Amino acid sequence: MNDADRPRDPRTSGRRLIDLVASGERRRRLRLVQWLIATLVYAGTAMLLLAGVHQGWMCAASVHAWMGFIAAVQLASYIALRSGWSERSRDPSLTIWQLGLGVVAVNWGYLICGPMRTSALFPLMVIFAFGAFALRWRQIAMLTAFAVASLVAAVALRTVHPEWATSEHVVDPFRVDVNNVLMILVVLPALAVIAARLSSLRQKLRDQRTALGAALAQVERLAVSDELTGLPNRRSMQAELERSIATSERGIAPFCVGILDIDHFKAVNDELGHAAGDAVLRNVACLGREQMRGTDVLGRWGGEEFLLVTPGGTDAMTAVLARIRKAVAAGAHPRRRVTLSAGVAVHRAGEDADALLARADRALYRAKHAGRDQVAIDGD
Ligand code: GH3
Ligand code: MG
Ligand code: MG
Repeated sequence: MNDADRPRDPRTSGRRLIDLVASGERRRRLRLVQWLIATLVYAGTAMLLLAGVHQGWMCAASVHAWMGFIAAVQLASYIALRSGWSERSRDPSLTIWQLGLGVVAVNWGYLICGPMRTSALFPLMVIFAFGAFALRWRQIAMLTAFAVASLVAAVALRTVHPEWATSEHVVDPFRVDVNNVLMILVVLPALAVIAARLSSLRQKLRDQRTALGAALAQVERLAVSDELTGLPNRRSMQAELERSIATSERGIAPFCVGILDIDHFKAVNDELGHAAGDAVLRNVACLGREQMRGTDVLGRWGGEEFLLVTPGGTDAMTAVLARIRKAVAAGAHPRRRVTLSAGVAVHRAGEDADALLARADRALYRAKHAGRDQVAIDGD
């Protein structure tokens, strides 16, 4: 069956027509929707102007000239938007051009509207609401100045050419009310569309702020904690050491550091696999945290090494280490006894973090060489 024989699906041909008129490209279509809203407001206003001509309140020639101008401008805007020509300019939606022309149309309308001219100003609300989306404050200030200046010019022109409107005969106040209500009915749907868009933008902003807050919290957490074990990371432990040294220097509290290193951890990885090794690291972290006191700080120093900072002398440190080593041996792996070696050093007055860590590291080296699964204290 060739294309000609195929029955026409009315939905696809309707879709094709929409694509032809309104463009299939999303951004271009959005610009054309804005154009359509402006055109509908113009069309509604034109109807009311024609009704005014019919009632004898307005001069037919003036209204036709206004309509001709708007039709030409809107057609030119449509062609520029639909063809994509506007996308080559710095203002692809032609916002400034369309809003400026809107101001001209409003004030021209004011000039020719005779006794109904107040309602001719209503569409200014739509123009400035559109402007709020797209213009910078300087452009809004310029548009405001232009709107005021052209309104003053329209007032001046009215006094010079009163014949462009009609005679100012007294109009029945009820008809003025009807006219105002009709004009508001033209303007409000356009404002409602803009308000709905603003509301969805605000919702999007709220969602983005929530997502950003969550991402930021995660970044902050990752910056100070170790991803695998959840313990404070090396950078965080370095800051902890500096804090403890500062406190110790003020004579407030002595403290100890202990470097804990899992014995033969490479064999754990080799024999049980890397994932099992990761699980052992997580378990050691968890058991360590359970066994320490609230004032102790345990962090991952790197690889299979942990750093423990405890306030007080070596007695407190060795007591905590004994509990941790016991818990790790019993529970870090279901079928394998995991042991730790540790090197401990007490902070000395005037000593910096590097010197303190170097002494703890030397003690750890001694513990390893003495057969592992034990604690060595620097200076003993
Ligand atoms: P020793 O008793 O002398 O400390 O021997 P060891 O095998 O524990 O020490 P070594 O330094 O030879 O090996 C440490 C191993 O730890 C090597 C490395 O692959 C492993 N390792 C380091 N970080 C991780 C990690 O995040 N996950 C796992 N599964 N293994 C790690
Ligand atoms: Mg090691
Ligand atoms: Mg090791």
